[in-house]
Amino acid sequence: MLRVTKFRIYPTNEQRVHLAQSFGCCRFAWNYALNLTNETYKATGKGLNRFAIQKEITKLKKEHEWMSEPYSQCLQVVALNLSRAFINFFEKRASFPQFKSKHHKQSISYPQNVSVVEDGIKFPKMGVVYAKIHRPIEGTIRTVTVSMNCKGQYFASVLVDDGKDLPEKSGEGKAVGLDLGLTHFAITSDGSKFDNPRWIAKHERNLRAKQRRLSRRQKGSNNRNKTRKQVAGVHNKISRCREDFHHKLSRRIVDENQVIMVENLAVKNMVKNHCLAKAISQVGWGQFCTMLKYKAEWYGKVYLEVDRFFPSSKTCNVCLNQVRSLPLDVRSWRCQKCNTKHDRDINAAKNIRDEGLRILSSGTGEFAYCPDVRRDSRGRKKSTTSQPVG
Ligand SMILES: [Zn+2]
Repeated sequence: MLRVTKFRIYPTNEQRVHLAQSFGCCRFAWNYALNLTNETYKATGKGLNRFAIQKEITKLKKEHEWMSEPYSQCLQVVALNLSRAFINFFEKRASFPQFKSKHHKQSISYPQNVSVVEDGIKFPKMGVVYAKIHRPIEGTIRTVTVSMNCKGQYFASVLVDDGKDLPEKSGEGKAVGLDLGLTHFAITSDGSKFDNPRWIAKHERNLRAKQRRLSRRQKGSNNRNKTRKQVAGVHNKISRCREDFHHKLSRRIVDENQVIMVENLAVKNMVKNHCLAKAISQVGWGQFCTMLKYKAEWYGKVYLEVDRFFPSSKTCNVCLNQVRSLPLDVRSWRCQKCNTKHDRDINAAKNIRDEGLRILSSGTGEFAYCPDVRRDSRGRKKSTTSQPVG
């Protein structure tokens, strides 16, 4: 089982210089290889694979003496990461690889020869960098990535393989459906609603003042640089608050349930709606679902995403009657067939849970066709049954 632990590290001035040079060399190698791959693709219709990139980087090292400053394996990782970035792009998991800028977050990876000692982490060519080891490292260290954020803080992410297999998955136990929203961050089929903390609203005034100050600063001046760091600091604070909230809530949901169902949200498509884009981007559903998924895997629990075309809000949970339209401002409604009063979101969460359980019991990971529930007309399937079971 692979796990990552992130430590804040405190390099000395000398170590900072070495790191700055290493960041620079790896960034240069990345940009050079990315450009070369693009050019080669334009000329021949084929890109460069990992070994071709590796060869080019070795050539680059012979041309420039300063390229021998970083630990040689760090440069090899650049070739690996770039080829993986292209694979991720072609398999539609990621966008096209971008050039790295020296003004953004910097990072390098050490694929070997790093060890965790009592009062820090020992790197090749740099020695021990002081760190507070807040969590013991159990297992073999695979890769260590050193990064520096816009505020100039340094971190080491240690990837460890503990040699154990993931526990076997079991669907036996309590199942929960989650409806993710904007008015509430998450609503469970048990009826609990978790508020959506609006961090940005809290930090927005601060952020706006600093951004205004930044816009008045002269380009390229020291003061502009300072203010840029302050703005980065506010963004950093917001993202840490969000991460903390996601960790705590996902931990709680995974602890309390055995099977977790979430509606598969096409966040990318939703962000295209300009009115909601900002609100959707800042709640961070993607990060939350990723946390639910890996935490469920650690404990042999089941995490399942339910097809988003399934009309979870508009179907009565009791009798499966489907209402024609349900405007967003209608928070509760009464089913005409069975006369049950529904809270819009709790009903949706219950439907997600039941749909997930149906998929699980049908034994396929794919969408189970169920004649009892009519598909949304916008969906891929239209039901052939004229009347839902009443
Ligand atoms: Zn009903």
